[in-house]
Amino acid sequence: MKMKSLQSRSERIASSPWNEKKLRSLRTALAGWYKITKRDLPWRHTTDPYAITVSELMLQQTQVVTVIPYYERWLRVFPTWHVLAKAEEKTVMKAWEGLGYYRRARNLQALAKVIVEDGGAMPRSEERLRELPGIGPYTAAAVGSIAFGLPLAVLDGNVMRVLTRLLALREDIARPQTRIKLQAIADQFLSRADPSTHNQAIMELGATVCLPRKPRCLICPMKKDCMGRDQAEEFPVKTRTGIVKRVETVAILRRGKRFYCEQVPAGKPWHGLWRFPDFDSTRMEEDQIITQIRYGITKYSVTMKTVSARWKLRACQTGCYLTAGEMAALAFAAPHRKLINLLGNLP
Ligand code: SF4
Repeated sequence: MKMKSLQSRSERIASSPWNEKKLRSLRTALAGWYKITKRDLPWRHTTDPYAITVSELMLQQTQVVTVIPYYERWLRVFPTWHVLAKAEEKTVMKAWEGLGYYRRARNLQALAKVIVEDGGAMPRSEERLRELPGIGPYTAAAVGSIAFGLPLAVLDGNVMRVLTRLLALREDIARPQTRIKLQAIADQFLSRADPSTHNQAIMELGATVCLPRKPRCLICPMKKDCMGRDQAEEFPVKTRTGIVKRVETVAILRRGKRFYCEQVPAGKPWHGLWRFPDFDSTRMEEDQIITQIRYGITKYSVTMKTVSARWKLRACQTGCYLTAGEMAALAFAAPHRKLINLLGNLP
């Protein structure tokens, strides 16, 4: 119901100023450019809906070059929905370790379980795809178009940048109304004859030519019709949410060659991953800090201070002392994995 109401709202909104003839020539130019210049990426050699879903979830918030080795390893360890559905959660988390946004790994396994229960095949309609766990509008459009040829236009950050520049659209993309308008424009622009190539082409254009800074307009297949080309870096307009600085402190507790670590319980960020325990910073002197690691997560810029502690563990502690080998076999939150790599050099 929600999706239908969004669609009908989007249909009521005036779309692009292009007529059908212009749209056809833009689509042809974009698809022609893509076929000649596209990057050779492993997920472009398959039409397997499972592999395409894995790639799409991994690519959300993550660079292509980071994703490639994870994607290849994932498909070796979990080659099908069935294997993924039956895997232990700790194996799934370990395979995702370092990619971040771990909810994607859990969603992927939850999705595998639902698909296996339903007979092992992904549904081939937008409505049924959107009912699956972890599948939002973007993933439904990407998987639906690339794996099944459904006429669904993708709208991600790259596509929004390309469209706002093409049309010199100065509306704030953080506003839901602007997203609805852009979705309507993307729907109108989509090639019904080959939605897979069209979607991949416009995302590729955003990733390799219509870059956030210094777009490469001279080699762009859309340059003749781009209305925002002369001020490209002014698009898209987006109200910024402020970055919030945060400091946290963790403790290193040693027992011989073992280190005390905890598994993050359900309901907390990094749930299911391992980490070093929190330390009450009110008990800390600045000179106790043995190292600092900085990392970003959502809107937070975090400084993680580390102290060497000697306190006794409370009876309710849920962690255990682990050797280097045991820590290597478990999935750790990324900043805590960095800390493990530093352990040999710490005082
Ligand atoms: Fe982007 Fe430049 Fe192409 Fe316009 S001409 S779509 S600004 S790369």
